[in-house]
Amino acid sequence: KEEKNLNFIEEIVEGDLQSGKYTQIITRFPPEPNGYLHIGHASSICLNFGLTKKFQGYTNLRFDDTNPVTEDTEYVESIKNDIRWMGFEWENELYASDYFDKLYEFAVTLISKGLAYVDDSTSEEIATLKGTPTEPGKDSPYRNRTAEENLVLFEEMKNGAFPDGSRTLRAKIDMAHINMLMRDPILYRIKHAHHHRTGDKWCIYPMYDFAHGQSDSIETVTHSICTLEFAPHRELYDWLIEQLGIYPSQQYEFARRNLNYTVTSKRKLLRLVQEGHVNGWNDPRMPTISGLRRRGYTPESIRDFCERIGVARRENMIDVGLLEFCVREDLNKIASRRMVVLDPVKVLITNFPEGVTEMCHSENNPEDMGAGMREIPFTKEIFIEKEDFMEVPSKKYFRLAPGKMVRLKGAYIILCNDMIKNEEGEITEVHCSYVENSKSGQDTTGINVKGTLHWVSALHAAEVEVRLYDRLFSVEDVSSEEGDFQDYINPKSLEIITGYAEPALLEAKEGESFQFLRKGYFAKDSDSNAARLVFNRTVTLRDNWTK
Ligand code: ATP
Ligand code: MG
Ligand code: MG
Repeated sequence: KEEKNLNFIEEIVEGDLQSGKYTQIITRFPPEPNGYLHIGHASSICLNFGLTKKFQGYTNLRFDDTNPVTEDTEYVESIKNDIRWMGFEWENELYASDYFDKLYEFAVTLISKGLAYVDDSTSEEIATLKGTPTEPGKDSPYRNRTAEENLVLFEEMKNGAFPDGSRTLRAKIDMAHINMLMRDPILYRIKHAHHHRTGDKWCIYPMYDFAHGQSDSIETVTHSICTLEFAPHRELYDWLIEQLGIYPSQQYEFARRNLNYTVTSKRKLLRLVQEGHVNGWNDPRMPTISGLRRRGYTPESIRDFCERIGVARRENMIDVGLLEFCVREDLNKIASRRMVVLDPVKVLITNFPEGVTEMCHSENNPEDMGAGMREIPFTKEIFIEKEDFMEVPSKKYFRLAPGKMVRLKGAYIILCNDMIKNEEGEITEVHCSYVENSKSGQDTTGINVKGTLHWVSALHAAEVEVRLYDRLFSVEDVSSEEGDFQDYINPKSLEIITGYAEPALLEAKEGESFQFLRKGYFAKDSDSNAARLVFNRTVTLRDNWTK
């Protein structure tokens, strides 16, 4: 029997299809347009869209826009863009606000059935009468209004007769219910606020619990998947559907995904943006989808990450190292190799003729022979990394040192003969000779060298801006630390340096990813212009955080 490896939600869906409970499944992804999508949302996107890709069905994109105050069309556009970039397409683009009329009708139905009432209590009074998990609540003095009276009052609420906060519509369930959320939950509140889609038409807005399940039902969503904190809401979700006698969507919960060394809460991410700790929602240090994209992450790597972390029933912290592993895996397959020296020292090839440029050739990607070769100019003066030369080498140092040989990638073997120091004793120039007949691909010398270095011709080197990113927070679990999360921001999360690149890098396209040999993966940033190329370090080649 073929190994299926289904997650627990896929198992439920498969069972429902096999039993004939459904012939087609419908899911929805329901973002509130109050911020940009982050890596946690990516997990929910992969789950919801992944389910209907795997089994027959479709997924709606539904903006959960019932809170007029925090929402914005900028967010709507970014969310659509990010989902498409992730490689998914929704069946219908929908808005909870499109259902405001229908939801109002549902509320009227409940009132008519004696299952909802207008409460004139303040929010403090409502909270006081709510009771505690161990003590029952008490009935509101307005609980026994007649349906007729409630219908009139609710219509007046809708027509703007009352100020914000002066009245609410509540379900009439049970003030002694063991589930606190069933103690006459609020269904509607008064908010004289402009809504990004409905404008000033409404001054009452449905609460999440009244909007979400009913919206699922209107769309005949079969499996409504949400995060664990909504588990206690399921009882109310089912109660409303049952009392209204509408399509029975069903809610399932999975664990919210948290990543270490970062925050995944839109409220906190918004503060990072507003208080200037990062340069916008798409700053490459942000765990947003747009930040990861700019950093050089690919949709494939993010989907792979979501697949690997799977779907859990319990909350846990996921190591950001896994996300980095996934992007390394993908970029290793697809990124062209280029040589860029980030911290140069000059090497003079003393036996190479002055004023001559010799072309060397190197494969663009050893993992992909179809990627072809590129030309690299070799001249008398080159740059190598400072750290690739040691005056007094340690035992296992196979790079350049006096009397030692290394291969220059794609070019010759060189032998170090001498060096020049300045007054401070720093090495300013290394003198080498190249070994004739040792050119890569046509080496007949039989010399075996252990080290291969990346290098660039000093004459041809292009200066590029390189942005080296590190983790945004210096502690693993930001939310478990005392005080404000801003106190734990890593002050060295961005370092900007100048790199010296081989000429082929100048042809990079915006967003294109490269492996800078021996240094890591880098993507060309949108801040680049004709005079200055900018590259973001996506990730180093190896996990060197623990070192
Ligand atoms: P935040 O706390 O960041 O504001 P949210 O849950 O309020 O998150 P929504 O816009 O309502 O954000 O989220 C849309 C969908 O994505 C919801 O179904 C939600 O459960 C899911 N989601 C949000 N954050 C995560 C996460 N960290 N892990 C998994 N799913 C998530
Ligand atoms: Mg939400
Ligand atoms: Mg939220």
